[in-house]
Amino acid sequence: MGHRQQSSASRSPRGSARSAPKLLRRAHHADPLLQLQRAVGNQAVLALLRSDAPGSVETALEESGPEAGDRPVAQTQPLSAPPQDGRILQKKDEDPVDIDLVPVSPEQKKELDKLGVRLPAVSDETWRSIGGVADNAEKTLSEPEKKGIEALLNKHSVAAGTPLATVTGPKFLLHDTSALVGAPAIEKERKKGRGPLGKGVSAWIPAAGDATIARPDFFETKRPSTTEFEKGIDIIKQADREQALRDIWNVAKNAEKEPAMDRALAGTGLVEKEVKTVKAGAESFFKGTVADDDLPDGSKSTAAWAVGELCAKAEKDGAAKVAADKKEPDFDAGCKKLSTYFKERAARVSSIVGVEIVQVGVKDPDKKKNQNICDPRNPNVVPMPSPPYSDSQYANIALVYLRAALIAGRFPEVTTHFVVDAFERGHCDPRCFDLQKLYDTIAALLGHGKGSTYGVKSSYGLTWGTNTIWWDAPDNKICGTPHP
Ligand SMILES: [Zn+2]
Repeated sequence: MGHRQQSSASRSPRGSARSAPKLLRRAHHADPLLQLQRAVGNQAVLALLRSDAPGSVETALEESGPEAGDRPVAQTQPLSAPPQDGRILQKKDEDPVDIDLVPVSPEQKKELDKLGVRLPAVSDETWRSIGGVADNAEKTLSEPEKKGIEALLNKHSVAAGTPLATVTGPKFLLHDTSALVGAPAIEKERKKGRGPLGKGVSAWIPAAGDATIARPDFFETKRPSTTEFEKGIDIIKQADREQALRDIWNVAKNAEKEPAMDRALAGTGLVEKEVKTVKAGAESFFKGTVADDDLPDGSKSTAAWAVGELCAKAEKDGAAKVAADKKEPDFDAGCKKLSTYFKERAARVSSIVGVEIVQVGVKDPDKKKNQNICDPRNPNVVPMPSPPYSDSQYANIALVYLRAALIAGRFPEVTTHFVVDAFERGHCDPRCFDLQKLYDTIAALLGHGKGSTYGVKSSYGLTWGTNTIWWDAPDNKICGTPHP
């Protein structure tokens, strides 16, 4: 049921309780506006018609204050041939029609052209700035938004990062820790957060207190992965990848190995002692003599990056420069096997900012007990507190999100581990998370309309590939309450 009322349009939607600016007018059934609504649906377009004030479309457009740089607006022709008295549309009956002011998509514009209708439209930026509701994922930040975010970060003592020239398809990936991680453990992660060390998580969000930014650069290429997707296990299985890495290393010139490791670790900020440790660890990995769990932190990432460096050099200078005597064909074959993996891994890792939200996990971490937190019937899973996440967590995630947006120059797509690794199953975090509450928190900070989204839409349930947030409805044994 549409909410209908008769009123003049508000000119100051920002800060009002309404979810979107709405311009209400009365219309006759045969009028072009209704045709338009039929053509492009209720997500219609018309900005600036008002029932209570005469005036041209152009005048109304000026009043709405579109900014320089708005998408081009066809202003030459008003909605219909303007009647003599200059009023655009006359009130014909008592049936009010809701008109939303929204940006026009190219498809919608085509439909309008067919109808011979040229309407004023506003840019995405203007739409957001007047409190419009939209999916803002991947949209470019406006200058006022950048300034606003800087001010917000400053106010909350979050150090802003350095904006990057390009981030392709930026994603803001939510996890829950599935184990209570305390302040000392988070601090340890922050100290480690360079190059191949630590968990590769950009920020940690405890139930109380500020977020800890563990890897301030965000969107880094050289960090450990936080998902199977980043590891590229859809491209090559872990065992096959590790075998290929060893095979390539074994047919590389010895003189090339150490320099490849140095290039792999260049610019990561590791101190000499750490460099020594991860290099030795990578060597152990290549030999296959040490169990994974006993390798020093960062060894496997260093090994993979070093082989990536060898293959990159071979591609640039020829395999003869890098491969051991008579081993060029083997070397080339190995690099070919991993070429998609190297390319995809770099693209995926550098486009994702992973955030861990602290949350309970299992009662008994003993491997003999069921450790599957995605099984709502597993008696070893600790039920969530009520509510599952604190207001402080939503507020701090929103701030970290805005920090990521400022670095990327765009609103990253918010997504979840449950979504990103759905192809592989096995991960379902963050569980019992109110995604729209996060979106509403972000929108409120920026003055965007309540109901705006910044990534995947809320869909609660247990099904990989269908739902976006794990929620054990209808039992709610783990989540505690029905989903939002
Ligand atoms: Zn996760």
